[in-house]
Amino acid sequence: MPQDQNEFPHAAANAVGGADNGDAPGVVVVAAGEGQRAGGALPKQYHMLAGRPVLIHCLDHLTAACPEGSPILLVIHRDMFDHARALLDEWGYGTTPLVVGGATRQESVRRGLEALSAAAPRTVLIHDAARPFINAAMIHGLRAAISDTQGAIPALSVADSLKSVSGTTVTGAVNRDGLVRVQTPQGFPFAPLLAAHRAAKGQDFTDDAGVFQAAGYGVRICTGSEAAFKITESRDFQRAEALVQMRLQDIRVGHGHDVHAFGPGDHVILGGVAIPHDRALKGHSDADVALHALTDAVLAALADGDIGQHFPPSDPALAGISSDRFLRFAAERVRARGGMIAHLALVLIAEAPKIGPHNAPMRQRIARIAGLSPDRVSVQATTSEKLGFTGRREGIAANATATVRLPLEAPDGA
Ligand code: MG
Repeated sequence: MPQDQNEFPHAAANAVGGADNGDAPGVVVVAAGEGQRAGGALPKQYHMLAGRPVLIHCLDHLTAACPEGSPILLVIHRDMFDHARALLDEWGYGTTPLVVGGATRQESVRRGLEALSAAAPRTVLIHDAARPFINAAMIHGLRAAISDTQGAIPALSVADSLKSVSGTTVTGAVNRDGLVRVQTPQGFPFAPLLAAHRAAKGQDFTDDAGVFQAAGYGVRICTGSEAAFKITESRDFQRAEALVQMRLQDIRVGHGHDVHAFGPGDHVILGGVAIPHDRALKGHSDADVALHALTDAVLAALADGDIGQHFPPSDPALAGISSDRFLRFAAERVRARGGMIAHLALVLIAEAPKIGPHNAPMRQRIARIAGLSPDRVSVQATTSEKLGFTGRREGIAANATATVRLPLEAPDGA
């Protein structure tokens, strides 16, 4: 792991495409917090939300909401560097530069800005990864309000009455007039904000607007979004999950079916798990009839052809390969459309081998390959009562069903 090495400077040339990048703002996404309040071993920005990590939701929404060519970099905790790199690769953000954060949020932002200075954007947006659901209207409002001497922050009105308290005792009323709730991203002219952060080193400010104002600049408010709430407590995940699910209203069910014949061998591979048997399954790949049926089920839900179309049996490069690759491919097609696999159900039809003892490892393995939790994967096995080709132990058949949820609209809608 590159301990003190930031990735941005050498990646900038590719990611940014030069300094004359029009008005595309630079974006610093701060994901360096340890986020212990939300519970769990991983910081909350790495938790799964409707089948995707929070951080990936955040990048999806930023990418959709920001002008094309906006250089986006991520500031992450030193201990999460390898994890974050692998995650970004897995979810299609392999070119997103990573910067190691500091001990405080303010220090992390400053490091992000320093790394971004190679790209020299005219303006910059500072955003917290724990607010995944930002939208194009927010970004548009911020960009319109930023000037050479003025920053802009999204704000929401305070609807509830406010009271001051001492412990559990109410001590007075607080006038709501003149108060707002503020969110991120916060937008600024790049060079003045970087200078302000350098000058603020060692001092403690609540946010970047505070740092910027301390340097003598102005800050305006723009319209925020209730959907762009910050995921802080574990209950926020329920709200976030509901929000994502609400968008995934295009619900499809796909069916897949496959058969492979037995040949000589000492094991079969089913659902990515090697199972000892006195025969093997014949096929061009590893002949994993279960993963083939599941792959076709997912592709069917997408109305996106079938396994033979995407991986022609005539392709010599596919000889003997692990069928993990097919199901992973289909799952990636779902992700690429902003959707999620909600459920996979597999039925294996065979007299032998016995599937029962391998059921749990198969569910785990299928879940891992397709990127969903094992409680959303069902594996069942049946015989055909000695009837037909499966009954005569000539081969194994598999049926699969995939439930896939896709968004009804483009992901900039929040
Ligand atoms: Mg097959």
